[in-house]
Amino acid sequence: MMLLMRGAALASMLALTVQVRLDPELGISETLAHERSARLSNVRYDLAFTIPEARTQPVTGRALIRFTLSAASEPLVLDYQPDKSGFLRSVEANAREVAVRQVNGHIVIPADALRAGENSVTLDFNAGDVPLNRSDDFLYTIFVPARAHQAFPCFDQPDLKTRWSVALDVPEGWQALGNGAELSRETGGGRTRVRFAGTQPVSTYLFAFAAGKFSVEQAERGGRTFRMFHRETDAAKVARNRDAIFDLHAGALAWLEEYTGIPYPFGKFDFLLVPAFQFGGMEHPGAIFYNANGLMLDESATQDQMLARASVIAHETAHMWFGDLVTMQWFSDVWLKEVFANHMAAKIVNPAFPAINHELRYLVEYYPAAYAVDRTAGTNEIRQPLKNLSDAGTLYGGIIYQKAPIVMRQLETLVGSEAFRDGLREYLRKYSFGNATWPDLIAILDSRTPEDLAAWSHAWVEERGRPIITTEVSFSNGKISRLAFTQRDPYPDRGLTWNQRFKVALGGPKTTLVPVQLKTRRVEVPEARGLPARFVLPNGGGIAYGEFHLDSTSLAWLLANLPSLDDELTRASAWVTLWDAVLDGAVKPGPFLDLAIEALKVEKNELNTARVVSYVRDAYWRYSAPATRTALAPRLEAVLRTGLDAASSQSLKSVWFSALRDIAQTPATLEWLTRVWKQDDKIPGLTLAETDYIRLAEELAVRDVPEATAIVEQQYERTKNPDRKAQFGFVRPALSGDPKRRDVWFESLMDAANRRREPWVLEGLRYLHHPLRAANPSKYLLTSLLLLREIQRTGDIFFPKRWMDATLSGYQSPEAATIVRQFLASVPVDYPERLRRIILSSADDLFRASRIVQIREVPRSRRPRASTASEPRERSGASGPRE
Ligand SMILES: [Zn+2]
Repeated sequence: MMLLMRGAALASMLALTVQVRLDPELGISETLAHERSARLSNVRYDLAFTIPEARTQPVTGRALIRFTLSAASEPLVLDYQPDKSGFLRSVEANAREVAVRQVNGHIVIPADALRAGENSVTLDFNAGDVPLNRSDDFLYTIFVPARAHQAFPCFDQPDLKTRWSVALDVPEGWQALGNGAELSRETGGGRTRVRFAGTQPVSTYLFAFAAGKFSVEQAERGGRTFRMFHRETDAAKVARNRDAIFDLHAGALAWLEEYTGIPYPFGKFDFLLVPAFQFGGMEHPGAIFYNANGLMLDESATQDQMLARASVIAHETAHMWFGDLVTMQWFSDVWLKEVFANHMAAKIVNPAFPAINHELRYLVEYYPAAYAVDRTAGTNEIRQPLKNLSDAGTLYGGIIYQKAPIVMRQLETLVGSEAFRDGLREYLRKYSFGNATWPDLIAILDSRTPEDLAAWSHAWVEERGRPIITTEVSFSNGKISRLAFTQRDPYPDRGLTWNQRFKVALGGPKTTLVPVQLKTRRVEVPEARGLPARFVLPNGGGIAYGEFHLDSTSLAWLLANLPSLDDELTRASAWVTLWDAVLDGAVKPGPFLDLAIEALKVEKNELNTARVVSYVRDAYWRYSAPATRTALAPRLEAVLRTGLDAASSQSLKSVWFSALRDIAQTPATLEWLTRVWKQDDKIPGLTLAETDYIRLAEELAVRDVPEATAIVEQQYERTKNPDRKAQFGFVRPALSGDPKRRDVWFESLMDAANRRREPWVLEGLRYLHHPLRAANPSKYLLTSLLLLREIQRTGDIFFPKRWMDATLSGYQSPEAATIVRQFLASVPVDYPERLRRIILSSADDLFRASRIVQIREVPRSRRPRASTASEPRERSGASGPRE
């Protein structure tokens, strides 16, 4: 600051600075975390919790925290933010009662109560309920990413790993489970006191306990005891599943010990099956928590559900090494542990499911969803900066969950699988029971390969977006005479190059794969010379990542012949590539839909059918004008109906049926769907559940079928499950044929209390903004955009993006696009960047549709000029992010 100040002004300025320095901000800031990890070492917790029988009574606790301080000249900040005030009862530092300040969810211990060297702090408190997940006869903790301090006082950051000693005092008859092995158990006076052995060094987000009325199954596998805590009352279901669940754990554990060269690091191995758990699983060392539904399967479980169960078990078990033994230093690297867990899980599980084409499954599971974010102007880098753990939720999304696994596979391909494994072994040994960053790992791998991994990481991990890869090819007499690929950065002022190895498919219709490494701006592929080919598909092998601009010959050939390709993986990657071409304006939605309809008649692979159906849905609703849809409907519905009749499995029938239900527009199909809803007509081989009938009633209502009002009323009456009934009751006004009732429903969302049940709100929004109802974008769009900031403040972590997605899902007109653009142009300079990106990412389809779709089917000369003249001039043919 260059202003001159004197006397009082300067003094008050300094006082302010000191105050700001003493008052830590809400949440755990990166600054606070750095200060503490520099000052603190050798932290140990001795925790005791008393859990009352009634969940209305508070859980009480005592924490003895011991630690070494390098200097005692400054106060020390502990984190503690229960949902109620007055929960902190007393604090002693070094055996003397001490007055502390509580500020912004922290406890500030004055410097004069501390000393350099060994210290101890004892706190008596009530535990905050939020992260304890209390039910009437059980509770379990979820402390990720930084929620431990919402329950008890601690240093809530991942790089202060500590040994935890815990005692739980629970109602008699309850079981108790912690990270450490049970040391002792005493019962008396209607209570049971359980002590657990001290743990290995573990981060706060991985510390966990659970207590309640659980059944316990135990099994020996390979000389190790496994215990399963659960609440399943169906004995036959437990008997049917238990051996498979223990076997899968033991198998994953043995595989990981062998792969990492490190024995299981955490002693005992227990896991808990929680009904209605918020995640698939959570990797607490020695005490994994799972969603019970994912592990206890029904007799009718499909191959897919079995694969999912094996995967989640392998995923959580892999975390024991990747995440638990070696932990990220800060949550900016949270993606890394998730990617490793998935990467290892695939290696462990896939060989046991030889009937599934895993390469194909990988492609359809990861690429479309990664591209859906990465092609937009709102995309983010994999490794994002994070200033405060309270924002950790904003890191999650398609880039972490879908792009990062693709990138990790690229890394393994680039380095070679043996060097990759050896590098991981070194990384795990070097940082055992400690913390590491992504650059720490890259440094280790870099020394094992001639590739420049730092540059590789910069492009793939530290920067956002994907390369634009163009094919240059010449054919002569059905053979390739020359083939090259070039890449460029969609953000021209950045000029990145992406290094990747992939397999290019040459063919027509038989496919040959040729390996390519694209590491500079341009690469020639001499190996392709002379090979017979009618098309070139860079991502034909299902590995390459980017926006592919095909040469005109290949594009034309695929548009005419894609369904005849012999290889199912090549077909899938051709679809992914053609869809990009549609969004890019290189292929019109009409020919794409024609091709897709033809393909659906002959496609035999279930994964491919589901993918094509999904593109058809998008092309139909988002990229076709209403009049085009009406003209297309009879043909499309007939194909979907034929597919439904011919499908051989329940899951494939369900793919066809849901597509037909979502697309249906002709009176004949709507009448048939109404009969199905009334249960006057059955679909052979497909059993509809209550949720299916609700969805069907909603789709019929939004189409204003003749009996719409009665269908909605009757569906409400006949819904038996109370939770589903309440949800449908909430959504009902959004389905109404009366615009005034819909307005009132939308108006009610201005009150945060009415937005609390987020899935309910999203379901209603999808019908409120349904393309059949989205004629007037000016009605709700601006208000919904204006509300986004408040939604971020009041809603859960995924809600802002989902709110925006649901809101914009039904619009395709230039008018709607202009509302969004004008909003973005008008926001204040301090508008949060992450929210701006959410809007850009959610609006991507709208922006593209507004350019691609010819809404008004009138001759060009008669088209009103004003609606397009106000649009900014945008690229034609060229590619890359806009906005
Ligand atoms: Zn995970």
